[in-house]
Amino acid sequence: MARFVEETETEIERATQYCDVRDLLASWHRLVSEGKVDLDRLMQGFSEAVHDRMMVLSLHDGELIYDSVGSMAKSLLGHDPLGKSLSQLDNSGVRLVRDKYARVMATGVPLFVVQHQTGLDAMGTNERLILRVRSGDLEQLAIYIRGRDEPNEILRSVFHASSDSISVLEAQRDARGEIVDFEIRAVNAESARRMHSQPDAVIGRMLTEVFPFVRKNGLLHGFARAIQDGKPTVIETRYPSFGQMVERQLRLFPHGNRLTITNVDLSPLLAASRAIEKQRNELLTTNTLLECQTIDLKASNQALEHTARELREEIARNRTLEAELVHLAHFDGLTGLPNRSFFEKRYAEVLDEARRTRRKVALCILDIDHFKDINDHFGHSAGDAVLREISTRLTGTLRRSDVIGRLGGDEFAVLLTEALDVDDARAAVHRMLGNLSAPFSVSHQDVPMGISVGVAIFPADGQSENDLMAAADLAVYRAKRTGRGRPIFFTPSLREEADRQNRMAKTLAGAIEAGQIVPYYQPLMDLRTGQLIGFEALARWQHPTQGVLGPPAFLDTIEEPALARALTSAMLDAVVADLRSWKGRNIPAHVSVNVTAFDLRQDGFAEELRVRLDAHGLSTRQLAIEVTETTVLSRDAERIAETLAEMRQLGFSISLDDFGTGYASLSHLLKLPVDSIKIDRSFITDVDRSPKTAAIVRSLVSLAGALGLEVVAEGIETRPQLDAIRSLGCHLVQGYLLSEPMPADGVPDFAASFAPKMSMPGRPIASVG
Ligand code: C2E
Ligand code: CA
Ligand code: CA
Repeated sequence: MARFVEETETEIERATQYCDVRDLLASWHRLVSEGKVDLDRLMQGFSEAVHDRMMVLSLHDGELIYDSVGSMAKSLLGHDPLGKSLSQLDNSGVRLVRDKYARVMATGVPLFVVQHQTGLDAMGTNERLILRVRSGDLEQLAIYIRGRDEPNEILRSVFHASSDSISVLEAQRDARGEIVDFEIRAVNAESARRMHSQPDAVIGRMLTEVFPFVRKNGLLHGFARAIQDGKPTVIETRYPSFGQMVERQLRLFPHGNRLTITNVDLSPLLAASRAIEKQRNELLTTNTLLECQTIDLKASNQALEHTARELREEIARNRTLEAELVHLAHFDGLTGLPNRSFFEKRYAEVLDEARRTRRKVALCILDIDHFKDINDHFGHSAGDAVLREISTRLTGTLRRSDVIGRLGGDEFAVLLTEALDVDDARAAVHRMLGNLSAPFSVSHQDVPMGISVGVAIFPADGQSENDLMAAADLAVYRAKRTGRGRPIFFTPSLREEADRQNRMAKTLAGAIEAGQIVPYYQPLMDLRTGQLIGFEALARWQHPTQGVLGPPAFLDTIEEPALARALTSAMLDAVVADLRSWKGRNIPAHVSVNVTAFDLRQDGFAEELRVRLDAHGLSTRQLAIEVTETTVLSRDAERIAETLAEMRQLGFSISLDDFGTGYASLSHLLKLPVDSIKIDRSFITDVDRSPKTAAIVRSLVSLAGALGLEVVAEGIETRPQLDAIRSLGCHLVQGYLLSEPMPADGVPDFAASFAPKMSMPGRPIASVG
């Protein structure tokens, strides 16, 4: 059925449906009747379209050669045979008609053939009118070729032009009518190309023969279903083709028992979509990466901003800190006054200026008396408050050009720059002290504050900063030792005395070693009995060249604990020895010894002393310990109180010395383990003249009495003082009126002369009763 030819020799007119074919044949017959069929005359009067469908083959040397081929003829043939010989051509169309052409050439009888073909080159049905003609001497065949269905021609070109593979299958059924295979009825050019074949080669063959895999992969079944359902469907599939897997979309279009399959190669599409997908994924990845980087960047940006902010804050903090440090480096944190180093800088500047302008400058050093006591007793915050108050008061008295500084602890310095002479300086210092003399309120208590001031004048007292400072230091040192509350102006004698004291301190240790420190004894008397009740041992230095020196000459220089303890020890040794030697004689064997805080802080002091007395057959009852308020309130006050309690326990009696000079409250003092108090000489001096002092003494006496304490009045020099004291209820007395301190060897005689008469030798002081 692929191609075949129906031929007609007679009644051609009836065989054709086209009038142009009939007209052409009629024209030929007319020319035959005229005796000559000339090609040109044959074609005369026919339209262009008829010319286009005409092809002419001329006989040259027995070969039919295509001399002219109309354009439509060409397209119906599917190729252009112009110039070729008929025998040369070999295609399905030519094969069918070649013998027909030969026959017409031989017989001259017109032949009409209808050719059916479904091939690559030509498809459909065409009519051919084959006529023998002449052109001059040339024998020719005029073949008029007319497509019976030209629309098919168009379809044919569409069919073959498609870039999809298209095939038409016809279902093959078994006896039961089941579809068992398909015959390939048509394939287009693309389909053949994909098969690496020609349509001719596959048309008419069985599908399963050409594509055996269709049974296995279900395509055969799918095609059968499409026919049964009679509806177009789409199948996407993969199958092997020439050694590689191809991906295809098969669009099935069933029509009757036939199936048109458009086979779309998905590979490029899929490849493209995969490439797109891949690109998309890459983009997404890149995008994600970029997003991450953006986040990273944002984070690092934020971190940078954070760091920058921190740095700015740090810088600001450092600036503040630096300013604070600069301030701290120059100013005292507590009082806000320039500190020592800053003061010294200003001090140097002021002296430079004074040198240039030849002016005087007064350097004052101020030192608070008993500041330690305030700290110890009222606490450090009270001490701080006092220091602040003092700095405020001091600053208030100064002129603009004066310079002030806190040298440390309780020591202040003031540079008076407008002092023209010593009197000016003195006036300025007095003004300053006047301001400081008002009582200070410490823990809601008014406390009189003693301030020692030493003054040195530039340039007279010192030319250099150091010399002037040393001079002022000596002056304040002296002020502390002597006239408290009174400013001391430097004089050269201070320097001499200081030198002497320095030397003395150095030689004191040697003096103790050499036994040059001895006790002098000052008697104590009970006015009620008129009897000598004991002695106070007072240290004296029997100096090889300077004679007998009192404590002020050497005791004040003791700052070394070991030296202080050595002195006490030397005194106790001597006292013990004297007490022993007085044994059995008519001497009241009771001695008071002055001890220091250094002694009382020492472990085992009480017990050692007891052992020492015991070793000499003496009792602890023979010894009294004198301690000052300052001592009991000094550093380690609790430790000191413990020692005192221990001593009392051991039988020693404890006497609170210089009572009334310190700042300790009475109630506090009276809680201490003491047996007696010694009213300081400062109260005695005017007790006979000052009712106020008398009132104080009276109340002290009655307070002590209430607490069961003995009261000793010391430093009685005059008879009126003695009478006053006695009238105030104080009966135990000590003083020059009775006797000055005497060496140990004077004691037996003194006791002997005193006892029988019950009065001072030569000077009766009291009558008993
Ligand atoms: P103190 O314990 O208050 O001793 C009394 C001081 O007053 C003694 O001075 C004494 O000579 C003096 N005195 C006594 N009666 C009168 C008087 O009627 N008029 C005057 N103006 N003075 C009188 P001294 O001996 O110069 O002792 C001074 C201070 O030295 C003593 O004061 C005592 O605190 C200390 N001291 C003396 N000897 C020792 C000692 O062996 N060890 C210790 N640690 N300190 C001692
Ligand atoms: Ca004393
Ligand atoms: Ca005293």
